[in-house]
Amino acid sequence: MHYPTGDILQKICLKCDSLNAIFDMPAVPNLFYTELGYMSGAIGMSKVYFTNMHTEMQDSLLAKLGRLIEAAGIGSIEMEGKYVAIKTHFGELGNLAFLRPNYSKVIADAVYKKGGIPFLTDCSTLYAGKRKNAVEHLNTANLNGFNSVTTGCQIIIGDGLKGSNDVEIPIDGDYVKEAKIGREIYDADILITLNHFKCHELTGFGGAIKNIGMGCASKRGKMELHTSGKPAVDQDLCRACRKCLDACAHSAITVDEKAYIDHDFCVGCGRCIATCPFDAISVGMDEAADILCGKIVEYTAALLAGRPNFHVSIIADVSPFCDCHGENDLPIIPNVGMLASFDPVSLDKACADLSQKQPMIAGSRLHVNSNGKKPDDIFKCTHPDTNWQATFTHAKKMGLGSPEYELVEIK
Ligand code: SF4
Ligand code: SF4
Repeated sequence: MHYPTGDILQKICLKCDSLNAIFDMPAVPNLFYTELGYMSGAIGMSKVYFTNMHTEMQDSLLAKLGRLIEAAGIGSIEMEGKYVAIKTHFGELGNLAFLRPNYSKVIADAVYKKGGIPFLTDCSTLYAGKRKNAVEHLNTANLNGFNSVTTGCQIIIGDGLKGSNDVEIPIDGDYVKEAKIGREIYDADILITLNHFKCHELTGFGGAIKNIGMGCASKRGKMELHTSGKPAVDQDLCRACRKCLDACAHSAITVDEKAYIDHDFCVGCGRCIATCPFDAISVGMDEAADILCGKIVEYTAALLAGRPNFHVSIIADVSPFCDCHGENDLPIIPNVGMLASFDPVSLDKACADLSQKQPMIAGSRLHVNSNGKKPDDIFKCTHPDTNWQATFTHAKKMGLGSPEYELVEIK
């Protein structure tokens, strides 16, 4: 049995209501489940399990990943007969930095071993690309090597055909009152995340919290995260085909020679974005960096509340941009390792700290931005407009987990 956070506190109290009272803690939305019951991810110092990327003869990285998740306690989750969503990222078409499907299979196999029913999932994108609806998303996943043979389980797109199948989860956040989460992910009994840790142009880095908070949001959820505005029509791209008219249930669109969206009527549902065959409708991604991080934390907290969850991150091919890009530039640092924890906040912080200690790769965006002199903050140097610390500040405030952690290395 592996206790994911401070052992003594957890043994004292398995239901955190009384613990909150004793230690004057805030209400904790991130409760994870072990054989002893639900436990809080925000109490004390969480354990993060780590293994490096070195291999010996006859001992593959996949075998190491299997040992890592066992050591971190995945086996303590009661899975018998339960649906287990494995949230990952299938990579945009053309990107080669995404995590290979082989890693997903290790997680799926571990779930099957425990009697669970795993499926891989992700929600469709807000922007034009090859993953903006379920059909294209599945095609892209297949082209990138994800299928039932390679991963050992099925793929279900989390928010339906056009990204509009979602559930509103109430949360009393600073920015969000109802998180819009893909229904198929919400319907799962257990959430496991498999995260590619790399840089991100809006949040500094992308890890577990971003994979959950942004990645599990439906189209209108992503719209709420990215902007306080509403979509608009690019008049140069619009061909007046009128398909968006049928998609809008709020009579916000008129089409004369070109389509036009009346923001007085638009409720920001995002349906029209997925409907336009010419990618003429889009939304500005103009939310302030710290508020975006705060919203992502609140979406994560809403989804994880009361739901058994477990998280795995791999720091490899640390590209300067996220895997939503149809290309992947030179990594900024060497491959570091694989990590697992019940606490997504501790996990992200451990990944960030380990990454900060690495040497730069010559010629990378980081190396160029820093004029070859290793900066104190590799994420800020790679993307100067981001504020990745805001994620941890807000995660702590929301009781999502602990930025303090104990790193446990396994072979
Ligand atoms: S679906 Fe796209 S191209 Fe067709 S009218 Fe609407 S905005 Fe224009
Ligand atoms: S976002 Fe929704 S409400 Fe707004 S124009 Fe598009 S379909 Fe209509």
